[in-house]
Amino acid sequence: MDVDVLIVGLGPAGATVLSKLSRIAGSEISILAIDHRIKPGFPVQCGEFMPSPKEMSTLMPNVPKTKDFFTFDKQFISTNTKTISFFTPEGRVIKTPFEGYTLHRGKWNAHLIEVGREYGTEVWTSACAVDMTNNKITVVREHGRSVQITPRVIVGADGVSSRIAKWTGLAEKRADKHFVIVKQHLMTDIENEFDSTDIQMFFGEKYAPGAYAWIIPKSGNSANVGAGVRLPMLKGKMNVSKALSNLINEHPIASQLLKGAQIDKTIAGVVPVGLPFQKTVNLNSQTLLVGDAACQIVSSVGGGIPPSMVAGSIAAKTIADFLHGTCSLAEYQTRWHKSMLKVLISAYKLRQFFDKISSGKDSRIQWYMNRLKSGDINKVVHCAIPRKVSLAYPFVRFLNWLVI
Ligand SMILES: Cc1cc2nc3c(=O)[nH]c(=O)nc-3n(C[C@H](O)[C@H](O)[C@H](O)COP(=O)(O)OP(=O)(O)OC[C@H]3O[C@@H](n4cnc5c(N)ncnc54)[C@H](O)[C@@H]3O)c2cc1C
Repeated sequence: MDVDVLIVGLGPAGATVLSKLSRIAGSEISILAIDHRIKPGFPVQCGEFMPSPKEMSTLMPNVPKTKDFFTFDKQFISTNTKTISFFTPEGRVIKTPFEGYTLHRGKWNAHLIEVGREYGTEVWTSACAVDMTNNKITVVREHGRSVQITPRVIVGADGVSSRIAKWTGLAEKRADKHFVIVKQHLMTDIENEFDSTDIQMFFGEKYAPGAYAWIIPKSGNSANVGAGVRLPMLKGKMNVSKALSNLINEHPIASQLLKGAQIDKTIAGVVPVGLPFQKTVNLNSQTLLVGDAACQIVSSVGGGIPPSMVAGSIAAKTIADFLHGTCSLAEYQTRWHKSMLKVLISAYKLRQFFDKISSGKDSRIQWYMNRLKSGDINKVVHCAIPRKVSLAYPFVRFLNWLVI
């Protein structure tokens, strides 16, 4: 089967390419979009937090019409949030203003796919890309039916373990420290006093070795409650399930808040927290990588929705230009770099800073966090390194020796 564009994967990245490209191209360009899930976007493997358009215009000022671009229709917003609180291992709280919202991400994802369908794009669910030979992709559909697709352009939006990235030689081998293993419960019936406008992030070896744990409020006294761990930082019998259970049952503040709350759904996943891949375009096979498949993520917090939206949108425009003969596909990388590479690199540097100053030890995390104020945390959530941290950085080895 010949198509102009094959989109593999319909999470936020692929679904954005699908909706935008279908809108731009109409019936001029033939698009096939596939996902191996029965209902792409579900189950929702996400905390669903999204910074507000105002915050996004500070974080990604080079995205054209930033505020409009990141504005979600009300039907996709579960709750508006106003602040973020960081909890040190000993339970000290540092709160800072940061506007955002928790999405109904599955509903939004499904809407993007529906937009594509309305413009006549063919969407196959329960369809898995299993092989790529001579730029032809083999897709296995329901009941094991196998179809060979010959696309002019391939979009690899197939997430963190992207096969498209591997098949096209774009994947980069990464050490374990560049991945966070996460587990999350959707918890309901939270009856205790609950500030539903505050995102809570918890640090410490017991709750999130090498990463953080979170309570992200949703509407109706519910919240996404999760924990992340990085394998090299795990000691003894610690694992992500234990970290999450510790947060819910033993954290001095979180356990009080969540007492009596019910677990409605549980998901697990992997978040890439390295730098974006150096090459996100392969001109031999005319392939672009988008979203987690290219490690386009704000790695300090594991935020992948905004980069997926930006890269997906740029990929759609570039593919349309390419098929109209006005640019090379290589332009995709130049364009997304211009829009957001700077913030992704800053976030990565922050993550490295955190690793270095904490070395995974609570005593150090506590010592350094004790010196941070709301203004410093505000810088961190905007992917900037607080001045006092950069001043202390050259002395980190000495400070770490002092603070055992
Ligand atoms: C627990 C958790 C919490 C998170 N919280 C947040 C948050 O609060 N805010 C935020 O911004 N980000 C968050 N993230 C990160 C964010 O969810 C991801 O960065 C984002 O989903 C990336 O989108 P994507 O489309 O690139 O990949 P995915 O969402 O992973 O989508 C990839 C799609 O490809 C499909 N697929 C894979 N292989 C194939 C194949 N061979 N053939 C066909 N289809 C295939 C999959 O079924 C899937 O639908 C979180 C992640 C996790 C795991």
